[in-house]
Amino acid sequence: MRLALLGPPGAGKGTQATRIVDRFSIPQLSTGDMLREAVAEGSAAGLRVKHIMDRGELVPDDVVVSVVAGRIDHSDAANGFILDGFPRTVAQAEALDQELANRGIKLDAVLDLEVDQGALLDRIRGRAEEAAKSGEPVRRDDNPEVFKTRLDVYREQTAPVAEHFADLGKLRHVDGVGELQDVFKRILAVLPR
Ligand code: ADP
Repeated sequence: MRLALLGPPGAGKGTQATRIVDRFSIPQLSTGDMLREAVAEGSAAGLRVKHIMDRGELVPDDVVVSVVAGRIDHSDAANGFILDGFPRTVAQAEALDQELANRGIKLDAVLDLEVDQGALLDRIRGRAEEAAKSGEPVRRDDNPEVFKTRLDVYREQTAPVAEHFADLGKLRHVDGVGELQDVFKRILAVLPR
């Protein structure tokens, strides 16, 4: 099963991706996690993207596309994967289609996790508070100001990605509001069998 998970920041993509990983034994390919790792390692790519990420803007398409293309060639992704946080621009979606076509594979479905803006702001505040309470590091981009930028970027650059996959007949809408378990059931209900 090859999937991609779209949705605004704070929609719960990471949480639902983890459940899909457990259910289908496929790896989660989170571009946010991969980029944060690159930043933590201090690699050349990491240094290039750190400030962009801290501002809540998108890192350049060529950087993420090459990170993802390298990752889908790992042996653990041979039987499938779930892309989380990618593609985030129409150019990335087109590049992904091309990379997959080069490998003779394609996405089975693209899930669009829908959550309204009020609920997103509540969640992101909660996420930062939880992390602070438990002593975990709070993501530098999880503050209301940067979060607003991330939402704007989502609306302008990522929302059109859903249309791209709708045109290809691959888009599945999922209501992302409610208990985690209920959202997961809705996801299972729209996956191809
Ligand atoms: P969220 O979905 O909660 O916004 P992520 O962990 O997916 O968080 O992404 C964090 C940051 O990493 C983004 O704000 C952006 O700077 C960068 N990033 C992640 N994925 C991409 C992508 N596909 N294209 C460009 N930038 C990305």
